Amino acid sequence: MGKKRVLILGSGLAGLSAGWHLQKRGIKAQIFEKEAEVGGLCRSKNIDGFGFDYDGHLLHFKHRYTFNFIKDLLGDNLTQHQRSSWIYAFDKYIRYPFQANLHSLPEEVIKECLLGFVQASKNNYCDNNSKNTFATRPWFGFPHSRSHKNKKNINFLDWINWTFGKGIAKYFMIPYNTKFWTLPPEKLTCEWLSGFIPVPSLGQIIKGAIKESKERFGYNSHFWYPKKGGINQVPLALAGQIKNIFTNCQIKEINTFKKEVIMESGNREKYDYLISTIPLPELARLIKDISREALCSFKKLRWNSIFNLNLGIEKKDNSNRHWIYFPQKDICFFRVGFYHNFSSFLAPKGKGSLYVEVSYSKTRPIDKKKVISRIEKDLKRAGIITAENKICARDINDIKYAYPIYDGNYSLSRKKCLSFLTQNNILSCGRYGSWRYMSMEDVILDGKNIAESL
Ligand SMILES: Cc1cc2nc3c(=O)[nH]c(=O)nc-3n(C[C@H](O)[C@H](O)[C@H](O)COP(=O)(O)OP(=O)(O)OC[C@H]3O[C@@H](n4cnc5c(N)ncnc54)[C@H](O)[C@@H]3O)c2cc1C
Repeated sequence: MGKKRVLILGSGLAGLSAGWHLQKRGIKAQIFEKEAEVGGLCRSKNIDGFGFDYDGHLLHFKHRYTFNFIKDLLGDNLTQHQRSSWIYAFDKYIRYPFQANLHSLPEEVIKECLLGFVQASKNNYCDNNSKNTFATRPWFGFPHSRSHKNKKNINFLDWINWTFGKGIAKYFMIPYNTKFWTLPPEKLTCEWLSGFIPVPSLGQIIKGAIKESKERFGYNSHFWYPKKGGINQVPLALAGQIKNIFTNCQIKEINTFKKEVIMESGNREKYDYLISTIPLPELARLIKDISREALCSFKKLRWNSIFNLNLGIEKKDNSNRHWIYFPQKDICFFRVGFYHNFSSFLAPKGKGSLYVEVSYSKTRPIDKKKVISRIEKDLKRAGIITAENKICARDINDIKYAYPIYDGNYSLSRKKCLSFLTQNNILSCGRYGSWRYMSMEDVILDGKNIAESL
């Protein structure tokens, strides 16, 4: 690469991973971060003895490479947990996933869910594969085989109905996803799905309709978390091995013609390659010489935001639950998780700490002045906070860019944005730089790939 100047914008896991992998190849890069600390969404804080993340962040691994990478960084400071996740439905707690744990729901609901699933399996199986008819194939397992076929061409609502049938759709999939995405599922494509939603077989669904199922479903059936400290242990350990990280350095302008970035301080830096992890809608605003056509594509990107309230409470709950999903419309949050069950070091002895997540967007705004009292009221209603749990710490994180929304414009707009950036030697990566539903593991790999592509 000779002496090419490489700048990295942002020190979240994607930017740090890019910097680390470049350094490994002997390529010097400078990382500029607008905040006072590295880590981006994987920062943590300590408030009155409670350890809080910027919303719950758990490590899942699909690749040996990333597992070893994190293990090398954290050494013994990493613990594996078997997931204990739940759903609050019909004013009671059932195990996750809903579709495999119907047994404690009202009888009529179980019947509707089972019949819907059988009907969906039957119709779709016959429709989609005339040679292997429903009657000639075993029931166990076939929903797996059909679950992800052709998903690019159908909307998310069709996929839900097609995969689970009308009952499971009505009682969980539609209300939960509408709440989470802030849009009805028919407005979404299925491009983001790849394995996020577990699809049990009919046998597993029937089993779970008879009694509680402890079978492990889905990509997150177990997870990893630092033994001591918050999720920030990962970026801190990574940053500790990288030279030339500059915090409190906000980029306020990018001149693609002069190949120069200008900081809030007025300092300027020239580049040959710019690796950016800045969210695409923000990046578009920084590039003053952006073409009108490209700007039009950037403006079509949509996202949801998360209002995250972290609470420290007297007397922890001893249920050992890790997190709970809330599909009900009359409860304002979609998920609550318990930090003290990830690591006992995250709360003072005997106390509890939890995170609450409320989703919002331009199409479904929230009243930020009223949302905290509403959250606390709903936590009481769901029995998560009782009279004994006096709140002793509160921490708010309003996460503007949370999940890129995969609507009808998503694919083409994203493609055009990234193509404009690459043409201008800007390699945009990470969850918000490449505008994809990516985990910590995914962005570490994305940073690595970008570093190896130079
Ligand atoms: C609510 C929520 C929960 C999540 N939970 C999980 C989970 O449980 N497990 C999991 O694996 N993943 C989870 N994720 C995903 C995970 O957080 C991301 O994949 C990952 O942290 C993204 O890293 P990144 O470096 O791409 O982006 P970021 O962490 O956003 O980093 C971008 C960096 O760029 C900096 N920046 C922005 N603008 C400028 C500027 N103008 N100048 C300089 N710097 C700038 C920012 O300050 C930031 O540090 C979750 C995400 C959300 C939103």
